[in-house]
Amino acid sequence: MSFSAGVKEELLRAQPEKSCCMLSEISAYTQSIASLRLAGGGRVKVVYETENTALAKRIFILLKKRLEITAALSFTRYARLGGRRACLLTVNEQDSRHLLVSLRMLREEEGGSVFKGIPRAAMTRRCCRAAFVRAAFLGAGSMSDPENGYHMEFVSSQSRAEVLTGILEKSGLSCGVTDRRGNKLVYIRKGDDVVSCLALMGAHQSLMKMENVRILRDSRNQANRATNCDQANLNKQLSAGAKQAAAITAYSLKHSLGGLPKELQEIGRLRMLNPDVSLEELGKMLTTPVGKSGANHKMRKLMHIIAADNENSEGEEK
Ligand SMILES: [Zn+2]
Repeated sequence: MSFSAGVKEELLRAQPEKSCCMLSEISAYTQSIASLRLAGGGRVKVVYETENTALAKRIFILLKKRLEITAALSFTRYARLGGRRACLLTVNEQDSRHLLVSLRMLREEEGGSVFKGIPRAAMTRRCCRAAFVRAAFLGAGSMSDPENGYHMEFVSSQSRAEVLTGILEKSGLSCGVTDRRGNKLVYIRKGDDVVSCLALMGAHQSLMKMENVRILRDSRNQANRATNCDQANLNKQLSAGAKQAAAITAYSLKHSLGGLPKELQEIGRLRMLNPDVSLEELGKMLTTPVGKSGANHKMRKLMHIIAADNENSEGEEK
């Protein structure tokens, strides 16, 4: 089972208890997985659609318990998606009106227009915000396995994305919105925020699992970073110094260093004896000590002479 599916399974085990939270939860399902189908005379039917049978059952029970609505259950097969089966929960016209008015998606007065409201408590009460986010995740959310990175997302539409980001931000979580194939995608991608969102939704087991992975991953990364950093610097220092020492040794075997300017002879000898120290340290060893840039300047001059000599002898050999 994917990490995401595990989170959903855990969330489905917890039943909402408070009447305010039930309404908030129904609101989130209605926003994330329901469609309004015209039923003639300007009337609409609300139809919930999900492949998750346990989720369909949960919505059925919530509608019954909170609003005394009995939805009709049926199944459909998607021709496109390899014949996968989906559950449909259809709310009749009269109950749909009652449902939408309760959710503040429809105005109370007869013939009132649809508006994009949510139950007031869904924004103002923490318990209801949690219920809303939990339902949005169950309906249209997913998250990556923490082994592969920290990312949580909710598929949404333009107006619903605004509601969801409002609720997430009110809960102290930073999130972003992007477009994906004609939909809006609300996403959370900071590890701390993904953890806080799991906590908000009440997915405590998944949260513990994620934290364990995160501790391992972070300490592994830190160790790797430290090793890579040391190794890289060391390699750079060693290889530059060792290369210089080898070049100077080869030159001295051919010509002896005696023919070089005095200041270059000294740094050349010191380098042959100390191939693994930095130029800065080498500069300090000189009879008249110089800084890093001074040592660098001398070494470059010496290397230039050696390189020129090598080019000449290559020319002679040809
Ligand atoms: Zn509540």
